[in-house]
Amino acid sequence: MIVCAEQALVEAELVGGLLACPSCREVLGPWGHARERVTRRVSGDWRWRPRRARCRGCAGTHVLLAELCLLRRQDEVAVIGAAIEAHVAGEGHRPIAARLGVPAGTVRGWLRRFAERAGLIRALFTRCAVALDPELGPVLPAGSGVADALEALAVAGRAWVLRFGPRPVWRIVSRLSAGGLLSGNTSALATRAP
Ligand SMILES: [Zn+2]
Repeated sequence: MIVCAEQALVEAELVGGLLACPSCREVLGPWGHARERVTRRVSGDWRWRPRRARCRGCAGTHVLLAELCLLRRQDEVAVIGAAIEAHVAGEGHRPIAARLGVPAGTVRGWLRRFAERAGLIRALFTRCAVALDPELGPVLPAGSGVADALEALAVAGRAWVLRFGPRPVWRIVSRLSAGGLLSGNTSALATRAP
């Protein structure tokens, strides 16, 4: 599974042969659609069917997720990101959940996973930031594991914007982590190159 931009752009890139297989880097071609999913966005529920693609080299199939999602998460990445930012700023999971209109257990799950993977996330996004901007200075410690991880995300986001133009930071995060920011498969995030 890989992450791409808006659905219209995904379609254009796929049909135009511009998407590469994450396994072997050969060209991906259209291969039907995955089953419908519902993404909870700030603007309301969004029902959509992700595009499926098949590699012309290794014949592997991949589901192309929009970058406003994370793998196996129903909520838009911007909502998850807002919860992480509020938590690092000191807010508890219950008030965050109430404000965002998400079950408290769901928010607690995001925050727990983010904290568990903070070191890995920091390492990945520091690597991404340096790859995007070789002139980048050191990423300074922010005071705790989760704060350091969030700082690395922000630095990588700024490096992306400097290079490619404005884009919401949590969409950049989704794309750079291939949707795996909070996924259970730690090795996917650990081996992901920018
Ligand atoms: Zn392939």
